[in-house]
Amino acid sequence: MGPVRIAVLSDIHANLAALEAVLAHAEGQGSLEAIWSLGDLVGYGPQPRECLALLRRYTFQSVAGNHDLAASGVIDTRAFNPAAATANHWNAAQLADADKEFLKSLPLTITDDELALAHGSLRDPVWEYLITLPAAIGQFQRMETPYSIVGHTHVPLVFEDAGEGSLPEYWAVGDGEIVELGESRLILNPGSVGQPRDGDPRAAYAVLDTGAKTMTFYRVEYEIKRTQAAMHEAGLPEPLIKRLRRGR
Ligand code: ZN
Repeated sequence: MGPVRIAVLSDIHANLAALEAVLAHAEGQGSLEAIWSLGDLVGYGPQPRECLALLRRYTFQSVAGNHDLAASGVIDTRAFNPAAATANHWNAAQLADADKEFLKSLPLTITDDELALAHGSLRDPVWEYLITLPAAIGQFQRMETPYSIVGHTHVPLVFEDAGEGSLPEYWAVGDGEIVELGESRLILNPGSVGQPRDGDPRAAYAVLDTGAKTMTFYRVEYEIKRTQAAMHEAGLPEPLIKRLRRGR
């Protein structure tokens, strides 16, 4: 079997322009076998239905994020900040019943021999922000696989297990960086397609190559103005529109 390329996308957040740019970038370098998502397909952005329809044209699997569960009525938006809650209610109102059923059906974790996927973490798939050393240690303790992939923080990051008694190493991953899936146990976060929060407004994603055993991280320019215009049109909260340009 030849190399298998899987696009690893997280926190798309109904940003169709960003999703299209990322898929064009990924497919420009070779065929994609599948798309894996770390959740938060909807929420914040202006085109939830269009994003779901596009993703479902691929061999696609996703875990559930907090925004997916809120938009499909599984959880309420009490724990959301007011702008996020407003945008989530608007997103929910755009979705067809079949979209909501699809979101409701998403598992909290997906695990195979080598990889575990969760939106937040294995300990708390819906809510935990895996961005601190204690959170990373908790994740490594729970991992029954050498590698795990998470989202939710909207920051591309890798944690490496440095072994018993040592704190995990971690680093922010840049555009074009290749991470080898080798001996060390790793937690990988591809960052957010639809609402980056590391100060770089470009869409973030990664490609997993199961032949080469690598994950390559990318940043892709997209038409931010197109998404912002659609958000204005929808009457979505102004701070959510502005933050796309800042990448925070
Ligand atoms: Zn998110």
